[in-house]
Amino acid sequence: MDYCSQPGLLPIADAISQMQSAITAITDSETVPLQAALDRVNAEAVYSSVNIPSHDNSAMDGYAFSTANTTPEQPLKLAGIALAGHPFNGEVQEGECVRIMTGAIVPANTDTVIMQEQVFVTENFVQLKRLPDVGENIRRAGEDIALNSLVLEKGKRIAPLYIGLLASLGVTHVKVFRRLRIAVLSTGDELKAGGQPLQAGEIYDSNRQTLLALLSRINVTAIDCGLVEDDPQKIRSVFESAIAQADVIISSGGVSVGDADYTKDVLQSLGKINFWKVAIKPGKPFAFGSFNKPQDKTCWFFGLPGNPVSAVVTYHQLVLPALRYLAGEEIELALGLRASTESNLKKQPGRADYQRGILREINGENIVQSTGNQGSGVLTSIANANCYIVLEQESGSVTKGEQVRVIPFDKFLL
Ligand code: AMP
Ligand code: MG
Repeated sequence: MDYCSQPGLLPIADAISQMQSAITAITDSETVPLQAALDRVNAEAVYSSVNIPSHDNSAMDGYAFSTANTTPEQPLKLAGIALAGHPFNGEVQEGECVRIMTGAIVPANTDTVIMQEQVFVTENFVQLKRLPDVGENIRRAGEDIALNSLVLEKGKRIAPLYIGLLASLGVTHVKVFRRLRIAVLSTGDELKAGGQPLQAGEIYDSNRQTLLALLSRINVTAIDCGLVEDDPQKIRSVFESAIAQADVIISSGGVSVGDADYTKDVLQSLGKINFWKVAIKPGKPFAFGSFNKPQDKTCWFFGLPGNPVSAVVTYHQLVLPALRYLAGEEIELALGLRASTESNLKKQPGRADYQRGILREINGENIVQSTGNQGSGVLTSIANANCYIVLEQESGSVTKGEQVRVIPFDKFLL
């Protein structure tokens, strides 16, 4: 593991790949009821034990018949009715048809369904207005999902529509990787929890609440380790207890050069921690490492900057990919969109900049506007945003009207 010896500013991609090569994904799994599998990571490929649809069935309300020897001139005799869940079990003879409703099994000896709008019906006879193509309006058995085909890969996070898909196969239980246990704490003498009066120079702790809320989106077991003062003894004891309970510790504050020396000493005495300067803005100070646990187990450590926006940006861009990897998830590439910026965006080359924006579609074009003051302490700049505006490491300032890359947040469709 060489993740502890990185001089200079580390490009984001290198930081991610160093973390992923250090981390070994968990393999423990458990079997849970289908609804409880939501947002868990699938631990075993799922193959279909059925055909979907299970039978050839009608896509329309109409009439099923055999096209062999049928012409529009000869009326077809109505032999019966097929409803969804109530098949027609009789014999369809030449010159006959069956009234059929959407989803009903296509009767034996018929090969085509004509829509009810395309026939004249007189008493027990049906006259075709046109001769349809063979097989028209029939959904074939297995055309959506064939028997034994792969439905859900190992490593997929189970989104709501995978729940529906698995339900359509009759699946009742899913094997998923166990949840990660993640301890969260905030460090800083100036921090107070809500509900307590503030003394001069104190602020309310928001990072811990933000991180706990963000972690709930990836369905982990979060352990709230509270606030820790900038005191080596206290830091050590909170970390020792967190290490004993958790697979991962995420802390915020105390990793920048000035105030962090003792945090650094304490952490390095407990494990193998590297204090990186990642080429990311906001969020330059960032720590990654590991603590040993009994039985050859590891507790991973992510130390985020204290500034609230920096903490969120480093969580999203650095920690989340590592957590997903650790959780056994197959990582899909991040989706980026192009948008035209409505704001001038100030930037100096050297660090990738995750500015915060509001993305809108106006007359079919993606337009993004900055949320204003982009200071790393300005939490409203990210709380009111619906996307990151990503300015690559070497890019300089961008002027109004230029195209930029944006990464939408999860506010678009839940
Ligand atoms: P630090 O990284 O500890 O030097 O903190 C940088 C800035 O972030 C300081 O202004 C801190 O007061 C602020 N800060 C640190 N931790 C938190 C927190 N948990 N919630 C809100 N602000 C914080
Ligand atoms: Mg601090």
